[in-house]
Formats: sequence, C-alpha cells, structure tokens
Amino acid sequence: MGYVLSREAFAAVIADLSKNYRIFAPVRKEGAGRFTDVDAVIYDYVCDSEKIELEAKSDYASKEFLTPLSETLLYFTENEVKESDLDTRPVLVFGRSCDINSLKRLDQIYLDNGLAKDPFYKRRRDLVKYVLIGCGHSYDNCFCVSMESNKCDDGYVFSIDLVEDNIQSNVPDKDFDKYFAQHCNDKKDVAPRYVKENEVKVAVPDSVPLSVITDALWDEYTTRCINCGRCNYVCPTCTCYTMQDVFYSDNGKVGERRRVGASCMVDGYTDVAGGGQYRRKNGERMRFKVLHKISDFKKRFGYHMCVGCGRCDDICPEYISFSNIIGKVYQASKEVK
Ligand code: SF4
Ligand code: SF4
Repeated sequence: MGYVLSREAFAAVIADLSKNYRIFAPVRKEGAGRFTDVDAVIYDYVCDSEKIELEAKSDYASKEFLTPLSETLLYFTENEVKESDLDTRPVLVFGRSCDINSLKRLDQIYLDNGLAKDPFYKRRRDLVKYVLIGCGHSYDNCFCVSMESNKCDDGYVFSIDLVEDNIQSNVPDKDFDKYFAQHCNDKKDVAPRYVKENEVKVAVPDSVPLSVITDALWDEYTTRCINCGRCNYVCPTCTCYTMQDVFYSDNGKVGERRRVGASCMVDGYTDVAGGGQYRRKNGERMRFKVLHKISDFKKRFGYHMCVGCGRCDDICPEYISFSNIIGKVYQASKEVK
C-alpha cells in the first residue's frame, strides 16, 4: 500500500522525518559540475524536500555516508588509542534501484568477506535505512536492466516517485506509515516505478578466457585513460581504500589514523616495497578494474559487482565507456570459443 501526496504534504512528511532522522539525499549544486555553468548532483544532508533532486541521476553514488572519502577511525597518543566518535542519530539515505542493489555488494565486501566484519563500516551501516527513488525512465549510459539491478523488491522503507507534480510513495515499512498517514488520507495501491529497458544493453561473458586477459584490446586504454580515478570515486560498488597516519605537526607522537578512498586506476595503488608496481600501464589497470567488476567478483560471490548505473561513463573526461568495454570483452571471449 502507499500514498499519493501533494508537494506540500510531501514537504510536511520530510519535515517530520527530519526531526528523527538525518536525511542524506541527492542535491543539485549549481555550477559545481565539470564544465562552466554545469550543475553537479551530489549527496548532502537536507531538511527541506525542495532541496532533494528527484529528477536527475546523481553524479556521485549514495555510498558516501557508508564509506566517506576520508574518515578518521582512531586518535592515538604515545600509549593510548581512542576510536573516533560517530554521530549515532539514524540516517535515511535516498537512492535509486542501482544504489540499493549496490548495498548488497558493499555489505558483501565489508561484512561478509572473511572472518571479521569491518567494525567501522558496521557502525555506520547499523544507522542506515534506504528510501527508493523510482526511475520513470532510463538515463544516459544506464545499463541496469542487463545487470539485473533495475528493480528493488525490498531493502527500502518507502519509495518516492514524482508523477505530474504529485509524489507517489509505496510504504512497505510499517514504522514509516505514520509519517504519511498524518499528512495524507489518500491511501492507494502504489508501486515504485522502474526501468524495463535501457538504450544501452550489454552481454556479459560467462567466463573470460586467458587469451582475452592478454589480448591487445586493453592497449587502447593505455593512451586514452589519464588515470584520474574519477570512475572509481563515483562508482557505487568500488570499495578500495588506503590508510593514512597523520601526525600533528606540533607533537609528532600524537595523531590520527584515517581511512581514505583509493582508486585502482591511479598511480601508487599497486606500489609495493622496493619500488615495485604491479600494473604500470593504464590499459593493465583498466583490465583489472573491468574484470573485477564483471568476472572475478562473480567467481567468488556468485553475482556481478557492477550494477550498470553508468556513472563511470558519465564522469570520464576521456569519454571512455565501461559498457563498450564489456561489449569488447564479450566479443573477444566469444571468438575464442
Ligand atoms: S575516469 Fe576515465 S580517464 Fe579517469 S581513470 Fe577512469 S577510465 Fe581513466
Ligand atoms: S562500474 Fe560503472 S556502471 Fe558499473 S556500478 Fe560502477 S560506476 Fe556503475
């Protein structure tokens, strides 16, 4: 069941929710895009429904609350270590179907990929509930249907669809029903919208033969890719990070340990002791990233890492298309068989 709300009623729902939850949602930042006069849609905390961007796909993914680009984990002195404090108020994160499907990938890596759960991820994860923004149409570069991430049957507390200036909300979580019921008595059968077909379609090979791994198809990216790492930072499923110990300059024995987002495309990622580096060429880095997203992760966990959101294509300054590369890998794998 759900509700059809006016904009005003929806504003009242968000205002009430913001008394009990921090709301982390896509927001339009005017002029903050990569070209002059181009906006960026990024995540931020909001209390006002008017600030939530419901139409455009966000440039960055909703994972930023769970895995901030930079997070202080510990403070240390000579003999003591103190875990950093965390604001423990609950959080509602707004995301599309690809974002909510990406959560399964993040949980897999941080909570279910070894003997121990990552405590710093878990303490944030325990605070979060998701709100689904329905997709009334496909966006540039999306291929979520091919990656089976176009739909969410669960994993959200309520949904939002902007339809002809009304907000339609499906509310599967009973705890959230009261927020809607007090501002709207128009209870209806409402289902979140989802995309059934994308313009971009990909076929993912069942397995990638060794000869494709050493194929010349990767060489093109050694010159085209400028190893800026933007594709990793916007990706809802990239989970790599590095650690930084920062010593306060006026006391070299006191400092903090930070977890900072890392990118497999940038220099330094594969540096090892003695000056070695495993993947020097950008083409080799591209091969690693692509095969991790569409082959290696699946071999280990049984499903693809990539959710087909297309954000890496949207952001690449060299117009490199991830879906095109999947197509090339598929074709090359087929030719071997
Ligand atoms: S965004 Fe494009 S140019 Fe930058 S690292 Fe990724 S593929 Fe290379
Ligand atoms: S690899 Fe690209 S298309 Fe796939 S989930 Fe990451 S950003 Fe989205």
